[in-house]
Amino acid sequence: MTGIRQKMLYSKCCLCPRRCGVDRTAGQCGFCRADAAVRCARAALHYWEEPCISAGSDPEVQEIKQGSGAVFFTGCNLGCVFCQNYGISHGIPGGVALGAADLADIFFSLKDQHAYNINLVTPDIHIPVLAEAIALAKERGIGLPFIWNSSAYVTVEALRILDGLVDVYLPDLKFISERKAARYLRAADYPQAARAAIAEMVRQAGRCVFDAEGMIQKGVIVRHLLMPGGLLEAKMIVKELHENYGDRIWLSLMNQYTPLTEHLQGYPELQRPVTEREYTELIEYALDLGITQAYMQEGGTAKESFIPAFDGTGVKRRDGDPE
Ligand code: SF4
Repeated sequence: MTGIRQKMLYSKCCLCPRRCGVDRTAGQCGFCRADAAVRCARAALHYWEEPCISAGSDPEVQEIKQGSGAVFFTGCNLGCVFCQNYGISHGIPGGVALGAADLADIFFSLKDQHAYNINLVTPDIHIPVLAEAIALAKERGIGLPFIWNSSAYVTVEALRILDGLVDVYLPDLKFISERKAARYLRAADYPQAARAAIAEMVRQAGRCVFDAEGMIQKGVIVRHLLMPGGLLEAKMIVKELHENYGDRIWLSLMNQYTPLTEHLQGYPELQRPVTEREYTELIEYALDLGITQAYMQEGGTAKESFIPAFDGTGVKRRDGDPE
């Protein structure tokens, strides 16, 4: 992608369904609080994704510390009241500002640390620069799958920029109720936008392919985080995904909801973890539907320890200047 095309995309930003129309190249910020700079809060091995992405959750038992090469970006176009990464998604943008070449260097640094893949976390608001960075890394022969770890609140037009670059899509499908999406994400149009985005991701990536070690190389895994009191909606989501995509995708049904109560004033219904009984009922429902391609979590995973430190670990620019 040329610099001129990138500038056009950022100068009247419509990369996500909010279509703010702000000029990010002039330093303006829309809902996502991001200007045209890609800011990164952490780039390090991460061990707490699905097994086919990070291969187990206990790095101590691995001979060589392998994991997913996760790069966390700042800013977000959703307003999730239960956000687990509050420190980087809300408030004033932070993190080190990076160009495509800096990002490609970081990807190679993660490869040198034995990353299984490059896992771009909350990347949707930075599509133009990340597309350039992925293309650059692939041209330089990185040889690792790129994972797009997304909320799915992104337009189909923007996703098409990534066609042929992203190997694995890892979208959420958080809610299909517009009322809940408006209340908890501040995006009533999330269900409609996420459904369209996931359809485009499946079109691009196709069926899941795993290597001999069981690590994913291409395809789509759709995540759903079970919310307290959200069992009925979770069942509807699982059913809809199964009916629409069958074995073309994998599901990841998560129970790790962590109530960060200091941010949940006014949402008493979200101030508790999900119960083992709620999660078990969801899993049994999925099995009864005949779903076999799904990741499930063991009990007791709602711990803040899964939230990494967003302290700039592994992030640096080519010129060595942190800002
Ligand atoms: S990416 Fe940010 S500025 Fe662009 S439309 Fe979305 S929220 Fe608005």
